Amino acid sequence: MKVLNLQCAHGHGFEGWFASNEAFETQLAGGLVSCPICADTAITKLLAAPRLNLGSPKPPAEAPSAPAAESSPEARWMRAVREVMAKTEDVGERFADEARKMHYGEAEERGIRGQATREEAQTLLDEGIAVFSLPIPPALKETLQ
Ligand SMILES: [Zn+2]
Repeated sequence: MKVLNLQCAHGHGFEGWFASNEAFETQLAGGLVSCPICADTAITKLLAAPRLNLGSPKPPAEAPSAPAAESSPEARWMRAVREVMAKTEDVGERFADEARKMHYGEAEERGIRGQATREEAQTLLDEGIAVFSLPIPPALKETLQ
């Protein structure tokens, strides 16, 4: 399985999981790769390594930060992720099952999110089902509970 760092024309970063590099190229050419945040299909592949982080890794924020931080890249990212979470249904550990049901028309097509193991993701990819991984900021996860 290939985990690629992708970015749309609007600068949303996300990970795409593909069966292979060729699978990614084929799906990209067919317009099947879209941003999970804004559905943009102008996707570019970022260099896989090393990650170009400016500055050192920060510990997760304890609480939603002050309004002054709203314009920081981190705040914008949190807002984008929040949007995705608002638009998708959390199916938790049933993610692989639900994704498969939708793929085979046994369940209504909709945006879902949840947890999948690497093995489950691999199986979905083998069946031709696209899987994306969004890094959810830890601070955001906490505020949702
Ligand atoms: Zn986007």
